[in-house]
Amino acid sequence: MSSKAEQFDFTDLEKQALAKCQARLKFYQKKLSRQKLCSKRREQTKKKIANLYEHMANIRKNFARKTTRNLVNSDSEIFVLEDLKVKNMTASPKAKLGEDEKTYLPNGSSAKAGLNKAILSSCWGLTATFIAYKAIKLNKLVIKVQPKFSSQECAKCGYIHPDNRLSQSEFVCKACNSTENADLNAARVIAKRGVKLLFGFLGLYNKIK
Ligand SMILES: [Zn+2]
Repeated sequence: MSSKAEQFDFTDLEKQALAKCQARLKFYQKKLSRQKLCSKRREQTKKKIANLYEHMANIRKNFARKTTRNLVNSDSEIFVLEDLKVKNMTASPKAKLGEDEKTYLPNGSSAKAGLNKAILSSCWGLTATFIAYKAIKLNKLVIKVQPKFSSQECAKCGYIHPDNRLSQSEFVCKACNSTENADLNAARVIAKRGVKLLFGFLGLYNKIK
């Protein structure tokens, strides 16, 4: 979702293809776990898995290409992106050992796995790279801003609170009652941060405040 309320998502065909790949991936991974180490069949299964990963990566790459082309070729001159550390977010957390030093404590691994999937499938890193690359070619500006609390901040009054975000899709500010689609609110918060940063560079921020 952009601050102009444009929404970008995979086409139904792309979604179907990705879901099909994921199902097949699951099947082959299960198969792999039952196959003998160093066997020829196991190698074949490994190859199939690698091909599936490559196919999914291509779908995401095409999507990122198409989306960023439309974005950068639009009238917009400035693009503000969240400075997300995708690598850190996708690294799996270390297993924590309990006090008895035998049992492992839950470390939020499965929740993080879900997050990994969401980030990777939305191909954030690729999208950011493509935007920067294409924008520079057209002399357009790309700004990266801190992502902290962007989903909890009200774009209208600036109030930050986790309760502002009622659900994945709904944002209701506890301070000013502003109600908005949560993604759109977050996109506007990010755009605002970009403007603030830019005017800060120019030494103008206090004048527009
Ligand atoms: Zn508010």
